[in-house]
Amino acid sequence: MACHNLGMKKPVPTDDELRSRLSPLAYEVTRNKGTERAFTGAYTYHKDRGVYACACCGAELFHSDTKYDSGSGWPSFWTPLAEGRIREHRDTTHGMVRIEVVCANCDAHLGHVFPDGPKPTGLRYCINSVSLAFAPETSSSGDST
Ligand code: FE
Repeated sequence: MACHNLGMKKPVPTDDELRSRLSPLAYEVTRNKGTERAFTGAYTYHKDRGVYACACCGAELFHSDTKYDSGSGWPSFWTPLAEGRIREHRDTTHGMVRIEVVCANCDAHLGHVFPDGPKPTGLRYCINSVSLAFAPETSSSGDST
């Protein structure tokens, strides 16, 4: 039978597994909606070519081609890797109205999306480094832009 999810669906790890596998900070950010301190994340200025996957479940979320330096102190992207990879929730904590973004596969907290990004979307996906796991791109026959 044809497979239509193109490898998007990953097994969702249990809370026990995540607690033992993730760093305390990564667990706090992804499971309890924490935030790493600005300018401290491993990927803030990371420029290698490749894919950023969810640190919890491995779902591929962002591509380095859409990463840019927003000056915010967190990795910033102007679009997710594909439609349906992330979900948005209205977040009214800390006296602000923001749009939280989570991994659509496992609900890991990733960060927030703001309407002050670059073209073509005008969006800034402001993502915690600890919510991501980078995989360098292996040379493939995929269509490049
Ligand atoms: Fe995930």
